Amino acid sequence: MMNAQATPRFDGVTIALSKGRIFEDTAHLLKMAGITPLADPEHSRELILPTDRPDVRLVIVRASDVPTYVQYGAADIGVAGKDVLMEHGGSGLYQPLDLQIAKCRLMVAVPQGFDYAGTIRRGARLRVATKYETTARNHFAEKGVHVDLIKLYGSMELAPLTGLADVIVDLVSSGNTLKANHLEAVEEIALISARLIVNVAAWKLHRSRIAPIVEAFARGVASS
Ligand code: ATP
Ligand code: MG
Repeated sequence: MMNAQATPRFDGVTIALSKGRIFEDTAHLLKMAGITPLADPEHSRELILPTDRPDVRLVIVRASDVPTYVQYGAADIGVAGKDVLMEHGGSGLYQPLDLQIAKCRLMVAVPQGFDYAGTIRRGARLRVATKYETTARNHFAEKGVHVDLIKLYGSMELAPLTGLADVIVDLVSSGNTLKANHLEAVEEIALISARLIVNVAAWKLHRSRIAPIVEAFARGVASS
């Protein structure tokens, strides 16, 4: 028999964040909403972080898992990069705010000197290594370029250097990582920034709890 008590109930607002840059850049927005985490996810092993508000808690998940937690209502609110949202598809998510943080670009990059335009013009197949399989597939399909996609989970820059792929699709901010690996960006797929996401059902059912947090975040974005 399943234990009906298996899921602990929390009658408040659960916010899903990833540690690192998203957590750090979201701190001032949480503060605008009167929310201060009671632990630092960089140093705590706890995955559920209480805040100074008993009706608000944080859950710390992988960046790419944030939309999933919010889609299924395990979290009411989350902060996720547009890159992650494009890959997820956005189902079940209301996206009320561009938070203007964690800004970068999703780009196609190639080994320095690689004739990207010529390769495409000849109609040659491209081997593309990326963590963003769906987004990359859609991008090249729209351009009419035939690709073999190779799914990776990190260090995409290594793929062209080892002959695993011809090109990569990855996030670029300064371009220093590309340069250090003798790669260059040749095409922009999307401008990226982090978005506030809300579970669509929670937004309808618990609007009075959630709207003040969304509004405080909006004031935080406007004032920074
Ligand atoms: P994981 O470490 O779990 O694989 P990740 O590398 O996606 O996850 P982060 O590096 O914290 O985690 O990235 C979180 C989000 O921040 C990304 O989805 C993207 O939107 C944004 N981001 C990633 N790299 C940069 C960067 N160099 N500059 C600005 N924003 C970035
Ligand atoms: Mg990263």
